[in-house]
Amino acid sequence: MKIAFIGLGNMGAPMARNLLKNGHGLNVFDLSRDAVQSLVDAGATASASPKAAAAEVELVITMLPAAAHVRSVLTADDGVLAGIARGVTIVDSSTIDPASAQAFAKLAAERGNPFVDAPVSGGTGGAAAGTLTFMVGASAAACEQLKPVLSAMGKNIVHCGDTGMGQVAKLCNNLLLGITMAGVAEAMSLGAALGIDPKVLAGIVNTSTGRCWSSDTYNPFPGIIETAPSSRGYTGGFGTDLMLKDLGLAADAAKSAKQPIYLGALAQQLYQTMSQHGGGGLDFSAVIKLYRDEGAKR
Ligand code: NAD
Repeated sequence: MKIAFIGLGNMGAPMARNLLKNGHGLNVFDLSRDAVQSLVDAGATASASPKAAAAEVELVITMLPAAAHVRSVLTADDGVLAGIARGVTIVDSSTIDPASAQAFAKLAAERGNPFVDAPVSGGTGGAAAGTLTFMVGASAAACEQLKPVLSAMGKNIVHCGDTGMGQVAKLCNNLLLGITMAGVAEAMSLGAALGIDPKVLAGIVNTSTGRCWSSDTYNPFPGIIETAPSSRGYTGGFGTDLMLKDLGLAADAAKSAKQPIYLGALAQQLYQTMSQHGGGGLDFSAVIKLYRDEGAKR
């Protein structure tokens, strides 16, 4: 299939590579020349604009930082909607708010193009391995149609409901992730301060009721899990500022639903403090520094 892929960052680049590996033809566009060049080296064709990328393809995929970027890539004079043929589907895998996804779907529908929200979980590791989970907001039929191509990038393709419901699933998951990571950081730091070997504590947690992905796969305490960002100076992985963005999306959505998110609001403040102290580019598990740095001062 001929596909336009726009947004070749930490997630988009490995996802695009997996499409190439599966035999799809790719037109690529990103503001970063280096990002484009690395995909061209892998066999993709560079496009001069989103409009040019979207011309003569059967599917458009966007993987951008936030809703403002998606809006501009879709609606600018040289944007996707200016170049795409009628009937071609646009899949947005960025994490954005459900209301924006629904608004983009309306805009695209006016031009005769289906718009599908399909945010992902699984991180950069899952993107590289092609094992992402796609949370799809679309009709059941549209989701079925997309399965073969999404399967080149992910192993779980889940239909979550109509447009916007993929984003609802994603923001609820990340709300929980932000909270559990802060919880594991708190418990690990307390244990270390009280003198237990952090490896022993992690082993107990991971075979007990405190076990979760933040403890057994991505533990924030350095040296517990070799493959986790905590064991390489909190580099790579899922940036604190991106987590902060997702908690902001959850807070906005909660406000619109008049639904309280007590722990989410507290977690948002923790990651905000991290960001304010210059840690916005570090993996979000670096939230443990708030506990451990403070502990060291005492
Ligand atoms: P990133 O910042 O690494 O990449 C974004 C890319 O978009 C960059 O290459 C940037 O140059 C490009 N870009 C920005 N504006 C553009 C424009 N107008 N036109 C073309 N290209 C443009 O971000 P990422 O980590 O790849 O995340 C992308 C999305 O996926 C975000 O919404 C994020 O929340 C979500 N996400 C990230 C992870 C993760 O672990 N990093 C996991 C799941 C979901």
